[in-house]
Amino acid sequence: VVGPVVHHMANNVLHVLIPFLHFPLLSFPLKQNHPLDLSKYILEYVANVLDQLGCTDENTLYAQSICPDEINHEAGDITDLFSAYLGEVFHLGGLAGIPFTGKTGFGAYSTHVPDDGSLFILFAPHIGLSNSNEFGKYSRDFQSADGAACGACVGGFNHCINGGAIPDAKSMFAHPYDHQMQYIIHEIDKVKHLVLAQKELSDSAMHAELVRQMFYICLNFLEQIVNTKKGRLIMLGGIQINMPRPMNDYFQPMFFQVWEEGKPIVDKLHVFDHEAHDIVGSEASPLEGLNLRCDDAADPNAPPEPPGAGASLAPKPGDKGMSMFRARRRSSVLL
Ligand SMILES: [Zn+2]
Repeated sequence: VVGPVVHHMANNVLHVLIPFLHFPLLSFPLKQNHPLDLSKYILEYVANVLDQLGCTDENTLYAQSICPDEINHEAGDITDLFSAYLGEVFHLGGLAGIPFTGKTGFGAYSTHVPDDGSLFILFAPHIGLSNSNEFGKYSRDFQSADGAACGACVGGFNHCINGGAIPDAKSMFAHPYDHQMQYIIHEIDKVKHLVLAQKELSDSAMHAELVRQMFYICLNFLEQIVNTKKGRLIMLGGIQINMPRPMNDYFQPMFFQVWEEGKPIVDKLHVFDHEAHDIVGSEASPLEGLNLRCDDAADPNAPPEPPGAGASLAPKPGDKGMSMFRARRRSSVLL
C-alpha cells in the first residue's frame, strides 16, 4: 500500500525526471496508479519477447553487467527482477557497469549456457537521484551528506575536468590495482566536452549526459567481447536510475537486440514504444497523467522546476560509438 507521502514524493520526483527520460512507459504506470514499479513493466515486456523466442529459465542463462554498488542490487531493482525470473546470474560487470571481465568472462559465461540454449545479458550504468531531486547524487541511509552515484562515473569525470592525468594503455599497466578506474578516466576524457556542454542547463542535465555517455562506453565494450558461437544472444541495455527511498529504481531502456549466428540482427527496442502508444494514445501526455492523480498539487512543497528541458538520458541520433545502435526518433507524446 502506497501512502499519500510517497505519492507526493513520486510526483515531485517524476517532475524532475520527465525532461530527462523520454520514458515511453512513464504515462502507463501513472495512469494505472502504480508510479513506483516501472522496472516490473520492463520485465513484463521483455518476458513477452523471451516467450516468443522460446527462452525459459531452463534453456537461457542470465548475465548482468552492472556496477557493484549495493544500490543497484536491492529487492525490486531490475537486477533483482531478472535474476528472479531467469535464475542464476553470471556477473560480467565492474565499476560503472562496464563488462570488465572481458572476453575471458564472456567466454566462461557462454560455455555455461545449456546446449542449444540462449544467452541473455542485462547491461546498464546507473545514476542516482538524491532526496533533493539532484541527478548524480544519492542519499544513502545513515549518511548526513549525499554522495555521488555512480561514484566511478562522477569521480572519473571530475578527474578529467580538474586536469588530472589521463592514462594511456601504458599507464594502465602501471596502475594494475586500479585499472578499471584508469580505463573509465581514459574513456570519459574523450566525451567530457559533451558532458560539460550540458552544465549550462543544470548540474542534473550534466549528470544525465554523463551516464548517457557511460551507456555507450558500456555498449562499445560489450560489442568487443561478445560472440554468437554458443547460442542466440539477447542483449538488453539501459540506464538504471536509483530513486530516492522508498521508491523502487527505474530503468530507461536504450538497447534491446537479438543476435544469432548467420542471421541479421533483430532490434526489439520498439516493444517498449508500442506498449506506451497502445495504452496512452497519441494525445496523452505524461504531465496530464501526473495532474490526474496529483491531489496534493497545492501542497507548499510544490514540485521543483524541471532542471532544464532538452537534456535527456535517451539515445540521440548521431551519438558516437553507436555501431550496433539504430537511432530512433522519440515520440512527441513524451515531451
Ligand atoms: Zn557505480
